[in-house]
Amino acid sequence: MQIKLKITYLRYFFQIAVIGILIYLAFGYGERTFEAYCPFGGVEALYGLFTTQNYTCALAETNLAMFIGLVVLVVLSKKSFCGWICPIGAFSEVLNRIGFKIRKRKHYVKGKLDFFLRLLRYPVLILILYFTYKIGDLIFRGYDPFYLIFSGFGHGSLGTLSLVLMSGILVASVFIAMPFCRYFCPLGAVQDFLSWVGIVKIHRNADSCTECGLCNEVCPQLIEVSENQRINHIDCTNCLECTEACPEENCLEVKAF
Ligand code: SF4
Ligand code: SF4
Ligand code: SF4
Repeated sequence: MQIKLKITYLRYFFQIAVIGILIYLAFGYGERTFEAYCPFGGVEALYGLFTTQNYTCALAETNLAMFIGLVVLVVLSKKSFCGWICPIGAFSEVLNRIGFKIRKRKHYVKGKLDFFLRLLRYPVLILILYFTYKIGDLIFRGYDPFYLIFSGFGHGSLGTLSLVLMSGILVASVFIAMPFCRYFCPLGAVQDFLSWVGIVKIHRNADSCTECGLCNEVCPQLIEVSENQRINHIDCTNCLECTEACPEENCLEVKAF
């Protein structure tokens, strides 16, 4: 019996490995805390570095290095960080799959409402940076699923408010495809500005496409793959779910430019 290994298995392996490493760090086994490896910490550190040459609160050089690495990755391969590395993206995908089984449709929020809600991530980003820079503290911790999950609702948690927020995201995930990533994530917003550039992207060969729509069905970012020659969409994570689902040979391919 021949077993066909899918490239998406490699992606799941990466996601699981990252979660494993973060759990290891969260239990205090590493040299640094799990927070030191969050690229958004690099964004939060920028103002402090420019003004006082110091890192805000618990931030460190690793945060800045992760942020620089993220910028390079987005330019090279769009939001691959979201699809291959981010643990919240991995959890969100799992919830999305469970939600899809329950709701039997991809998404309840459509059209203009979806469009305007997606813009929310920009004011969220601006507000977080404004207050972090002004107060000199990591004010996002109490609202940040990454921090709350891996710290076990640690000292930056807002108690009941954080619990309500996380429960709200969980419940919303049943009805909405990846609500935190789609509408609120400030790190997603940061990547948006460069994801347009993303050199490596999915290309569709219209000559071999039968317009079966399977690619659209599997895309966790709700991108209409079959309606594009090249996937320039800023939310594409190069997760390769669409290329794996496509039944036609060489129809969806990963190419530069
Ligand atoms: S949008 Fe934010 S939470 Fe979602 S996968 Fe990307 S970085 Fe992670
Ligand atoms: S899955 Fe492949 S053949 Fe089907 S619509 Fe998408 S690109 Fe075309
Ligand atoms: S278009 Fe394809 S590669 Fe991009 S997010 Fe959707 S399924 Fe993943």
